[in-house]
Amino acid sequence: MKPSTKPLDQQGRIVVPRAMLESINVEPGDYVDVYLDNNQGRPVVVLERHQDLCVVCGEITTEGVKIANKRICTECASYIKLNRVDDGGQKEVKKSDDNLNVY
Ligand SMILES: [Zn+2]
Repeated sequence: MKPSTKPLDQQGRIVVPRAMLESINVEPGDYVDVYLDNNQGRPVVVLERHQDLCVVCGEITTEGVKIANKRICTECASYIKLNRVDDGGQKEVKKSDDNLNVY
């Protein structure tokens, strides 16, 4: 996509062209991640669609369930559902390379 030159306003803000927002599949109201990266030694600011992390295993996920605005991936949600404990849920669930372990 062709670069777009925009002036920063007094608060350091810019308006991101709609075509760029559409290319990263976001629309007004969506969350985005902004961070500093490096392009061949030159610092660049990156804007990308926010991706939720599973609060159990830490993997990036767009699937699964959301509870209290926190995402739990499908795999962890299934594991928790299959291994439901009736003792107040005091067990800690951790994900290893191949499976989930309960401690
Ligand atoms: Zn998970």
